[in-house]
Amino acid sequence: MEDIVIIGSGCAGWTAALYTARANLKPLVITGDQPGGLLTTTSIVENFPGFPEGVDGYELMTRMQKQAERFGTRVRFGSLVNAVDFSQRPFVLTVDGERLEAHTVIIATGAGHRHLGLDSEEKLEKKGVTYCATCDGALPMFRNQPLVVVGGGDSACEEAMYLTRFASLVYLIHRRDSLRASKIMAERTLANPKIKMVWDSAVTDILDVKQDKVTGVKVKNLKTSTESQIDCAGVFIAIGHVPNTKLFQPFIKLDSNGYIHRSAGAATNVAGVFVAGDCSDHVYRQAITAAGMGCAAAIEAERFLAGLNA
Ligand code: NAP
Repeated sequence: MEDIVIIGSGCAGWTAALYTARANLKPLVITGDQPGGLLTTTSIVENFPGFPEGVDGYELMTRMQKQAERFGTRVRFGSLVNAVDFSQRPFVLTVDGERLEAHTVIIATGAGHRHLGLDSEEKLEKKGVTYCATCDGALPMFRNQPLVVVGGGDSACEEAMYLTRFASLVYLIHRRDSLRASKIMAERTLANPKIKMVWDSAVTDILDVKQDKVTGVKVKNLKTSTESQIDCAGVFIAIGHVPNTKLFQPFIKLDSNGYIHRSAGAATNVAGVFVAGDCSDHVYRQAITAAGMGCAAAIEAERFLAGLNA
């Protein structure tokens, strides 16, 4: 019987592990198939406090893991939770086919970037194709170069505006003729002289796989079927996120986009199941906010356990 199982090993998961380990609860972390989460796919993280020179995403996550382990966190690397039963306590989790029981669970499964689904997108990821302007926008390879952002929501507008600090010009390619983004964000985006809108258009290919770097995109106008090419050094894809929450759907209340509904603090609708990080946050989605939520979930889980034992 576990006191606390943490599902996920991004900033939220490791921080929850650190705090619950220091409370002597010997947490068990199930890392999932991408230990360290999305941040391990980023090169340099320059906005995590405490690292004035920036820190490699993989290194940051490894440091968090080691810090959590130092205080007694146990880790199942690469393990997947196949099923959960939160209908009664103790909760039951199936991990790599094995049954586990737990008094409390912290869900920190994060969210994945929605992909366009192009072969070239996959092949050129980290070679000019990226899903995070805040993480990668300032890299030398993108400075004073034309860049492309794909999407029409708040994220795409935010990314496009952020990238104008570095790029010579930002093309914002959207599949419709009006932005989905909030009015204020849309107005700011459209008024920015360094952003050029490409309406009613889909990216059909990213160039150039042969050169192993991004040199441009092929674009199709969806109204006229006209095809064209835009030269650029980077493609920032901001077409939404997909929270990793499907597994919990029968028991945990989700919002209409699949994000876990957080009530007071880190609580879910099931007493004893807490949540932290991007699987419940579509607003901030930063490493530091996920870490903060991991801390909050840990403190609440600790209090819940203390209540059970009182
Ligand atoms: P979003 O609002 O779901 O927008 C996704 C955009 O990508 C839409 O414009 C959509 O086009 C487009 N899209 C989706 N799938 C596509 C595909 N396969 N190919 C091409 N385009 C595709 O996602 P988001 O912008 O990440 O925002 C998510 C939530 O976070 C929203 O509630 C947003 O308000 C919030 N947010 C807020 C801020 C802020 O306030 N500062 C910043 C970022 C995010 P269609 O419009 O045609 O559907």
